Amino acid sequence: MMMKTMSGKVIDGRKIAREVGGGLKKEVETLGKRGIVPRVAVILAGNDQASEIYVRNKRRKAGTLGIESELFRFGSDASQEEIEDCIRKLNNDKNVHGILVQLPLPGHIDRNKIVSLIDPGKDVDCFHPENVGKNTIGGMNSTMVPVTATGIMKLLEFSGIPIEGKKAVVVGRSNVVGKPTAIQLLHAGATVTVCHSKTEDLKKECLEADILVVATGHAGLVTANMVKDGAVVIDVGISALPEGEMVGDTDFEKVKEKASFITPVPGGVGPMTIIMLMRNVVEAAKAREQE
Ligand code: NDP
Repeated sequence: MMMKTMSGKVIDGRKIAREVGGGLKKEVETLGKRGIVPRVAVILAGNDQASEIYVRNKRRKAGTLGIESELFRFGSDASQEEIEDCIRKLNNDKNVHGILVQLPLPGHIDRNKIVSLIDPGKDVDCFHPENVGKNTIGGMNSTMVPVTATGIMKLLEFSGIPIEGKKAVVVGRSNVVGKPTAIQLLHAGATVTVCHSKTEDLKKECLEADILVVATGHAGLVTANMVKDGAVVIDVGISALPEGEMVGDTDFEKVKEKASFITPVPGGVGPMTIIMLMRNVVEAAKAREQE
């Protein structure tokens, strides 16, 4: 018998981000009528080229939504104290609603200490232990939500993809992407497996997935023979090939033939991450107004 060949519907993250952004822009306009302009401070330390691009893109998106942003730039030799002082000042500045520390920080900086110093109400990346805790417990109406994880959930929601009862496999266990995504999928009723570099048989685990989220930064890690027919594939990874082309963690063209839905790189999860970051800035400004 001939097998029906799946050909994955490519999820347009840019389009969904535009839709979410349209709503945010209206909220910013409404706040503006009450004299409030959402404002985010961005801290960039070192000279990581990818970070430069991410910061530029985030600030550009903020600008298009009417959100003000200010860049605080430090050299790669910046001290822990200098960055901490900057955060303390921003915590106390009532005109700053969000503080974003672009990662990675230079190796000698204690990242956990920096993140824990940010006022949880201004922690728009949702890295502070209080915000991580609230989002892990669930049902706590946290003002801040994990941006990539929530961006992925929105992509699934807007694409009409059911989650409850489905088997989800998340490849990657970082605090930035893997863990919060696994938690959100769990809250939505999926049965979740989290894989990482020590997983013994990655192919076997991936083949179980109805929803496969890949976030490793390892270009082309997931090949078509690791994907079940009809699976939904969310590719979070971003790698630059030597020629400069940006690619994800999946062998996109071949995996697309097996998947029912797939996100491209670029143009999939990336735009959603930025828009959810902006959502957090707007929510932080709204919460501050109510204080
Ligand atoms: P990290 O490097 O912090 O984590 C990578 C994870 O992948 C780790 O848990 C690691 O396992 C796992 N891993 C690495 N290699 C393998 C392998 N061969 N098999 C199985 N698991 C593996 O990265 P992040 O989570 O911060 O980011 C992941 C990717 O997503 C990067 O490419 C990053 O650029 C991208 N990204 C994209 C965003 C977007 O908006 N599109 C937002 C944020 C990140 P272990 O823990 O055992 O080391």
